[in-house]
Amino acid sequence: MKITFFGAAGEVTGSQHLIETENLRILLDCGLFQGHRVESRRKNEQFHCLPKTLDGVILSHAHTDHCGNLPGLYKAGFRGPIFCTPATADVAEVMLHDSAHIQEEDARYLNRKHPPELPRIQPLYDDEHVTRVIKQFETIPYGEWHDLSKDFRLRFQDAGHILGSAICEMEICERGDWKRVVFSGDLGRRGTPLLHDPQRVDGCDVLITESTYGNRIHPAADDIKAQLKTILHRAEARGGRVIIPAFSLGRTQNFVYFLNELYNAGELPAIPVFVDSPLSSEITSIYRRHSAVLDVEFQRCMQTDRDPFSFPALRYIRSQSESMELNYRKGAFVIIAASGMCEAGRVIHHLLHGLSDPKNIVLLIGYQAQNTLGRRIQDRIPIVRVLDHDVKVQAEVETLQGLSAHADAEDFKWWFEGLGAVRGVGRAFVVHGEQESSQAVAHLLDHVCDEAPTIPKFGESFEI
Ligand SMILES: [Zn+2]
Repeated sequence: MKITFFGAAGEVTGSQHLIETENLRILLDCGLFQGHRVESRRKNEQFHCLPKTLDGVILSHAHTDHCGNLPGLYKAGFRGPIFCTPATADVAEVMLHDSAHIQEEDARYLNRKHPPELPRIQPLYDDEHVTRVIKQFETIPYGEWHDLSKDFRLRFQDAGHILGSAICEMEICERGDWKRVVFSGDLGRRGTPLLHDPQRVDGCDVLITESTYGNRIHPAADDIKAQLKTILHRAEARGGRVIIPAFSLGRTQNFVYFLNELYNAGELPAIPVFVDSPLSSEITSIYRRHSAVLDVEFQRCMQTDRDPFSFPALRYIRSQSESMELNYRKGAFVIIAASGMCEAGRVIHHLLHGLSDPKNIVLLIGYQAQNTLGRRIQDRIPIVRVLDHDVKVQAEVETLQGLSAHADAEDFKWWFEGLGAVRGVGRAFVVHGEQESSQAVAHLLDHVCDEAPTIPKFGESFEI
C-alpha cells in the first residue's frame, strides 16, 4: 500500500491524502486550499491524484478545507462514489453550492483587474459541477462496516467535530494480508453540549491524524462564558457593535447554542444578536433535522427549549438589504457573519464599516490561518486591506480561544490512549497543523507507535 499526502501536509487547508493498493486508488478528503488568493488558485487547479483513475473518495466531514474541491475533482474527470455519513451529505451539498458561488464571484473580481486582451479567468468550478458531483454521494451511517470491494472495508465513527463528522476506519487487504488504517478526519472535543465526544477506536497499522491544536489547552467553558459576558457588557456600555467572524458550518451553531445557554440562564446582556448569513440559517436547519445524532445534553435541552438555536433577541438575516441596514444601525449589537477567517462573505462588509471605530469589538472565535485577513486583524496590523480599501484597525480585537471544535492536547492524549490500549499504532502520520502543533502531536503519539511519527511534506509518498 502506498500513501501520498497532497494537502494539509505542514498546513491546515486542502486536506487530500491518497491511498493506493494493487487494486484500488482511494482519496481521503478533497479539500480546498485557502489563504493567499493567487497561490491557492494555483494549488486548487492542479490535481496530483489523477482524478479519472480514482476508484472513490472517502469524505470525513463537510468543512470546505475537506470537501470544497470535490466539484473541481468532478470537473477533472472523477466519476466514482463519494462515501460519507448522511448528515455530511446534506451539509456538503449546501456548502458546495455556496462555494461555487464564491468561486464565481472570485473570478469576476479577478477579471476586473485582468488585462482585457487576455482570456477571461474562469471560476475554479461552477454550480453545475456541484449539482453533478453531489449525485456521487453514497451515505453510510455511523458504526456500520461497508465493503467498497472485497479487499477494502470502511466504517465511520463519530468524530464529534461538526454535525456528521467522522473518523474513518479502513481495513485493506493486499496479497492476503489485512491492514487496519485509521484517519482521524478533524477530531472534536470532549464534553461539549452539542456534539458527542470523539469515539475512541482501537489501534491500527497506519494512523493519519490531524493536529490543528495539538500544542494548546483550551480554557474551560465557564471561563469562556465569563470572558464573553464581559465583552458583551463592555459593548453594551459603549454602544458599540461586536463583529464576530464565524464559519457558517459548526462554529456558528456552537456559538449560537452557547449564547442560548447564557440566555436560558438569564446571563445574556439585553442587546440584539444578528446571524447575518443565509448559509448559516440553512445549515442550522440541517442541524435541527439531524438532531438525533447530536449529544444527549442537546436532547435534554430540547425537552424544555423547543429550539436551542434560537432565543428572543436573536434574528437570522437572509436578505442583502437587511444586512446592509446593519451598517447604519445605532447602539450596541452583535453580528455573527461568515467567513470565519474574514476571507469572503458578509463579514468583510461589516469589517469595512466597523473596523476603524474604537467603540466596536472584533471578536475572533476560531482559528485564523496565516495570510488571511482574520490573522492580520488578530496580529493587530495597524492598517489592513479590506475590499480594496486601506482600513485602520482601531476597534478592539479580542480572541475567545476555547470555542474551537478541534481537540486540544488533552483530548489528543485521551484519544491516543484509546489507540494504545488495544494493540497500539504501527506507523503514524501527523497532518493538518502548523509545524509546532504537528510536532506536539507527534510527541504525544510517540509512546503508542512502533516507529517515530512522521510529519509528511506535500507530495511525499510512503510504502507501508
Ligand atoms: Zn473541520
